[in-house]
Amino acid sequence: MEIAFISTEAVPFAKTGGLGDVCGALPAALAARGHQVTLLLPAFRSVHAAGVSLDKTDLSFAVEVRERIVGARLLSATLPAAGVATTTGDAGGVQVLFIDQPQYFDRPALYGDAGGDYVDNCERFAFFCRGALQTLTLLDRHFDIVHCHDWQTGLIPFYMRERFGSHRWMERARSVFTIHNLAYQGRFWHWDFPLTGLDWEHFSPDGLEFYGGLNFLKTGILHADMITTVSPTYADEIRSELHGCGLDPLLRLRGDRLRGITNGIDDSVWNPATDRYLIEGGYDVTSWTTGKPVQKRRLQEIFGLPVDSDIPLIGLVGRLADQKGWDLIIEVLRQHLEQERPVQWVILGTGEPRYHVALDELAARFPDRFGLKLGFSDALAHQIEAGADLFLMPSRYEPCGLNQLYSLRYGTVPIVMATGGLVDTVVDATAETIAEATATGFHMHDFSAVELEQVIGKALDLRQQQPNIWKKMIETGMSQDWSWRQSAYLYEQLYADTVSLGLGGVIPG
Ligand code: ADP
Repeated sequence: MEIAFISTEAVPFAKTGGLGDVCGALPAALAARGHQVTLLLPAFRSVHAAGVSLDKTDLSFAVEVRERIVGARLLSATLPAAGVATTTGDAGGVQVLFIDQPQYFDRPALYGDAGGDYVDNCERFAFFCRGALQTLTLLDRHFDIVHCHDWQTGLIPFYMRERFGSHRWMERARSVFTIHNLAYQGRFWHWDFPLTGLDWEHFSPDGLEFYGGLNFLKTGILHADMITTVSPTYADEIRSELHGCGLDPLLRLRGDRLRGITNGIDDSVWNPATDRYLIEGGYDVTSWTTGKPVQKRRLQEIFGLPVDSDIPLIGLVGRLADQKGWDLIIEVLRQHLEQERPVQWVILGTGEPRYHVALDELAARFPDRFGLKLGFSDALAHQIEAGADLFLMPSRYEPCGLNQLYSLRYGTVPIVMATGGLVDTVVDATAETIAEATATGFHMHDFSAVELEQVIGKALDLRQQQPNIWKKMIETGMSQDWSWRQSAYLYEQLYADTVSLGLGGVIPG
């Protein structure tokens, strides 16, 4: 198939979270299955710093934005293998085209700065949606599938029918819209509507309007031929009021075209046996009992914690955002530290200032039991996954989650909230799953600090009192295949279904 991938993030060019991991790896996995994949991205400043050579093309386009004509050039590159900038090898010939519009995209960050979101985000991403489709029409290709990701691309399924429907191949092309996180919707006030270049008749419930404003995500949900999310459980959860973020009625309406496919991990980057950030050759499922303690010792040294192989080490990596359960984590961490429990903690993250302050204060008071790094570091993320014994993900909700998959691969037992992709990927240790040897981690069933504390206690008891079961859990997790190969196969099936089902979205009036 000919597939166009349209996203604002893809490793190694631009990433703020899991979206970047997915769009850096899935196109390559699809190309490896024989598909022709073209990836479109904005030429953000980080693209120029990715260490991949960008070629100028003679392609350009212009879009009318209010009374102005805004032009852009296209730059081109080949997606590097394994999502890592290298000079050798590429990812099965995936071409990446970058929409180079410096006024919109050459900025220090992707979506905003310390002062909040950039005020012209509606203009920037409406431009990107139109520009991406213009770009596709410039190429001598007949795309079967236009695969869009998250709110930034939410207008594309609508434009495909309203603006470009009569354009050669586009009438037959089908749109797939993937929701990586329903909470981020791209909502703007109605005065921004003219930036879309559409007639006011489309400022309606059947078009872009949502409670008096604009909503990019809603538009994508309403008009895509197929909608996907990044795990089957999240695909169910978002149809409910509890997890629907106000869009559950629409998601129920479109339920026959809503599917969940669990993300994969890039196992050439996340592999403890070949990981370039680990020392002494790393380890695998046959050598972890000797290899993992080496990484644990190093992690303790990096964070200045007492080197001790027996003391349990709890690790966390992630955005310091409310979604990830930091209120609970900080409460339990404080208890552990103040009550002098025999446990060490290591945290890597960046995000909301209130969490920075609370974590900083604890790290300063308890430097011999709590190591903290506020910032973004690929190397440390790998070293924590390798060196910790337990990994916590008590998320309020979690569309898929990647860190628990890395933890399974690295023999670091995950404790997760039983929600979304976490419940689909981590098998809770119960009497039954332990007997069947399928257990790989622990579930929390209530979103509370008490529950988190109890589940950590249960895990630590098992580790200490039943080391054989603990060992089996680690080895079961390490032996699983969470690579993109399986997910790419499921996307391939989904694309075929989408083509055979035909037009799906609400047709613009
Ligand atoms: P989300 O997309 O909600 O942030 P995911 O678990 O799906 O959560 O993906 C997060 C990705 O970002 C993982 O690859 C994780 O390792 C990485 N990550 C998050 N915070 C940091 C950080 N401070 N330093 C390095 N990597 C990070």
